Order: sequence, then structure tokens, then C-alpha cells
Amino acid sequence: MKLVLLGPPGAGKGTQAVKLSEKLGIPTISTGEIIRNAIKNETPVGKIAKDTIERGELVSDELVLEIVKDRLKDDDCKDGYILDGFPRTLAQAEMMQSVENNIGVDFVINIDVSDDEIVSRLSGRRVCPSCGKTYHVVSLPSSCGDKCEACGEKLIVRKDDSPEVILNRLKVYHELTAPLTRFYDEQKILYTVKGAESLDAVTAQVMDIVGRQRR
Ligand code: AMP
Repeated sequence: MKLVLLGPPGAGKGTQAVKLSEKLGIPTISTGEIIRNAIKNETPVGKIAKDTIERGELVSDELVLEIVKDRLKDDDCKDGYILDGFPRTLAQAEMMQSVENNIGVDFVINIDVSDDEIVSRLSGRRVCPSCGKTYHVVSLPSSCGDKCEACGEKLIVRKDDSPEVILNRLKVYHELTAPLTRFYDEQKILYTVKGAESLDAVTAQVMDIVGRQRR
């Protein structure tokens, strides 16, 4: 099963990806996570991407395509994958499906959330810099206060979750990523869920779509 999770930043793609990954036994490829790790480890990719990510803009289509192609070579991707945060532009979507790259997509789940909800979610988001687990100060607080439940690390606010960067990321989303819903709708592989509902309700919608695809 090869699936893409689409939606604005903070829609809950990462959270749903974890659940899907467990259920389907296939890995999640989160380009944002890969790039953040590259920045932390000061790799050549990290050095190129650092300023761009901190401004809330997109890294180049070519760079991100190479990152994904590289990750897909790993053995654990042979039975399928969940793409979280890729593709994010029409160019990326077209490049991945080209004969040369041949990165398959069986279906796409679009998590639909309003801008107001996104601003409130991202401004309350806290992440563990060590294991990547995500929390929210109101809706999903850590039971260990300002520390990660999984590894005890002190939680942080992502640099790109600052108020002005959130607005820029939303602008970038509407300009460059939102048109992908039409692109996949035309291919008849787009399924949209209401992302503003409770976490469990969103998961139920997502699992329902996946269940129907497997039949
Ligand atoms: P995310 O964790 O998915 O919100 O991604 C964080 C940041 O990583 C984005 O704001 C971009 O700067 C960069 N990024 C992640 N995925 C992509 C992509 N497919 N294309 C371009 N930039 C990306």
C-alpha cells in the first residue's frame, strides 16, 4: 500500500501516520522529520535547508525528491509506505510519478482543517527534540509536564511554530500545496477527512478509508 497524507501544517498528518504505520506494518517517510534530523546532525542537506525551514518556506523540489528516493531504497519500503509531507508542490507530484522516478501512489488522504484551527494547534504544539513525539499544551499534554513521556527529554517549540512563521507556512500551503487536492481528485484517488474532529474521530475516518482500499 502506497499512500500520501496531504493537508496543511499541523493538520495531524504525523499523528495519523504513526497509527497507520502500526496498523499496516509499513514505514512513514516524513520529509520534514528527515530534514530536521539533517539540520540537527549538520549534514550537507541540513546546512542547505536550515534557513529555509526556519522561515517556513519549502526546500527545493530536487533536494526533497532525492531525499525521498534515497529513503525508498531501504528494504522496509518494499511492501509500501506512507508519505507524510511529500509531495508538497505540483512539480514534486509530477516528478515522483514520472517514468524516471516511478514513485507509486495508490491513494491520497487529505486532512482538511481550517486556518484558524491550524494557528491554534501549531502555537500550542510541543515536540520532543530527541524522539520526535508531538504534544499540545491543551489538547494533548505530556503526562510528564514539560518533559517527553517516551524519553524524558525537555519538550521544545519548533522554530517554525513561531507566530509569524506559522502564517508564512499557511500562505505557502495555500499557494503551493493545496492545488494538489485537485491534481489527485482528477486521478480519482483523493479521499478527504474532516481533520477538526477529535483525534479518535479523525483516526476512525482514516482507518475507514484504508479499510475500503484493502477490500
Ligand atoms: P513538516 O514537518 O512536514 O511541516 O515540514 C517542515 C519543513 O520541512 C517545511 O516547512 C519545509 O521547509 C520542509 N519540507 C518538508 N517536506 C517538504 C517538501 N516535500 N518539499 C519542500 N520542503 C519540505
